Amino acid sequence: MKQSASGAGLVGMSSATSDADWRELRATAFAALEHAYAPYSRFRVGAAVRSRDGRVYSGCNVENASYPASMCAERVAIATAVADGARDFVALVIAADAAEPAPPCGFCRQVLAELGPRLEVMSCTSRGGASRWTIASLLPSPFTPQSLDRS
Ligand SMILES: [Zn+2]
Repeated sequence: MKQSASGAGLVGMSSATSDADWRELRATAFAALEHAYAPYSRFRVGAAVRSRDGRVYSGCNVENASYPASMCAERVAIATAVADGARDFVALVIAADAAEPAPPCGFCRQVLAELGPRLEVMSCTSRGGASRWTIASLLPSPFTPQSLDRS
């Protein structure tokens, strides 16, 4: 499911995550974007993730001169949350300096699907654009812990 909205475009979204929760995540993601370390791409990204128990964590992209060592904002937020003991993520907001809302990359989809199989993802631009997906729609056939079963 993709849903586009503009501006405060958080109205009318029905989920366990309230409109106020989405607004908090959006504000947290844009605050994290300000800390992005993106001297190579100049594509600044922030992310904020909410666990089922209501805790919110943020991250920003952290690039490196060895380009493959760069980390996406979404995975930085998830790693920060996991390091604090959080699991079972329900909502994630991505904030980017982009013309159009940017969906998570393939690596991030894989990580998000494992730690938030029912995750709802919203991507917002600094110009007010927004799109929303479920992780199941972004990665319909994920590699899961069960995929490792050798029996
Ligand atoms: Zn990514």
